[in-house]
Amino acid sequence: MFHFLLVLTLLSGQAFARDWSLLQLSFGLKKLPEVDFISLIDQTVPRNSDSVHYSSLAKEDWPIDFDQYRDQYVLRVNVAAEEDLSTLYEAAHELNVSVWEFSVSKRFIDLQVSKDSGVEFLQHVTARWPDMDLQLDLVVRDLPQTVFETYSFPDDDDDFTVQEDLFFKRYRDLKTIYQWFDLLVATYPDLLEVEWIGQTYEGRDIKAVRLTAHKSEPSPEKPLKTLVITSGIHAREWISVSTSCYILYRLLQDYEKGKKKARLYLDNMDFLFLPVMNPDGYEHTWTTDRLWRKNKQQTYNPRCYGIDIDHSFNFHFTKSEDSPCSENYPGEGAFESLESSVWDTYLNETKHDHPIYGYIDLHSYAEEILYPYAYTCSEKPRDEENLIELAYGLSQSIRLTSGKSYAVLSACEDKGSDLLPAMGAGSALDYMYHNKAYWAFVLKLRDTGSHGFLLPPKFIVPVGKEIYSSIKYFSSFVTDK
Ligand SMILES: [Zn+2]
Repeated sequence: MFHFLLVLTLLSGQAFARDWSLLQLSFGLKKLPEVDFISLIDQTVPRNSDSVHYSSLAKEDWPIDFDQYRDQYVLRVNVAAEEDLSTLYEAAHELNVSVWEFSVSKRFIDLQVSKDSGVEFLQHVTARWPDMDLQLDLVVRDLPQTVFETYSFPDDDDDFTVQEDLFFKRYRDLKTIYQWFDLLVATYPDLLEVEWIGQTYEGRDIKAVRLTAHKSEPSPEKPLKTLVITSGIHAREWISVSTSCYILYRLLQDYEKGKKKARLYLDNMDFLFLPVMNPDGYEHTWTTDRLWRKNKQQTYNPRCYGIDIDHSFNFHFTKSEDSPCSENYPGEGAFESLESSVWDTYLNETKHDHPIYGYIDLHSYAEEILYPYAYTCSEKPRDEENLIELAYGLSQSIRLTSGKSYAVLSACEDKGSDLLPAMGAGSALDYMYHNKAYWAFVLKLRDTGSHGFLLPPKFIVPVGKEIYSSIKYFSSFVTDK
């Protein structure tokens, strides 16, 4: 009888997996992931005493409601096999668990969960794939506090000038960034131009900054090669915005100081920055939800708004099965997001005077350098070897500056496009590489550790410096050609 029951249990698949895991637990063979997760949550870790706790401030002084993130954690699931990542991604998608990051190079997936949704997710995974080897870490254990620590509150020494890096002491909201552009243009009228690209759904301006040492030349014989740097396409990735502003600032400073390399770059090329590619989304992260990713456009579903601009470009645009409630919703057709469409119009209008040679799109996080294509791994980019070589050069210049080791891989690998085709479709990277830029990369900035999208402001300058070194490497590469 006992044997018969055992066989029945064996045949009942999922139930068996659960029972077997429990059995293993009771004999101390293997710890259940959900038990591991709960013990990670319950571990008391001494709090960093030099930071104020958000709850000690009056609620009316909060820039956003921090309580919306209460009892939320960021759980990192490390796996041994690459295929397990896409399995976990699909499981998260199925259970409506928010995925923060998915790193093929470092073999982890980060999930924003509550205690209950984390347990449910892990139980689901162990029941369906009992052999999958999961190693858990708690990346963020106090989400509202970690969110809070990315904002800064005005203090007496908040004044900034264009000559000093006080601007980079903290993250800046859209209004302040646009004021800073104006201040820069007023200070360096011969070198800078702010260009209005278009308007967002909520009526905000989309502004680019062109840096050129040939502004007064009526019509140069041969237009200079332009390096385009975009950031903030995903609203919550604040470090990308501060980094492109930092690069702009350092190029200006170094040029003004007469530094040889900056002079060489600006004599031979132009730079075009689009630091806040998603102004509505960015503003939303400052006033409502720090973890917002998409733009703010209305969709066919009145309950869910926002298009993921980085899936909305026309090169291999794929209408995904995702609903407008998904964080990756690409819209119903290419260029439905206003930001991608006005950017396309602008680039087409300016391409004769300003041919684009290189493109860098800044994102966070995971410390990676991605080269095209994103939409598939079966189509190889032209000049693949040279792209990879240049990517390693960028990575090396970062390592020599800060010791950080940025992994180099193709964007399709990073996004798992072969297994999840919609993940890499319609990206800005592929669009720019295919239609505009000879060289194109995505840089996913810091960190890989304990902050994710919520990198504290003290890292703005160190990240700015390491990425500036890679931009110098890129520019040397361009000017050597
Ligand atoms: Zn991003």
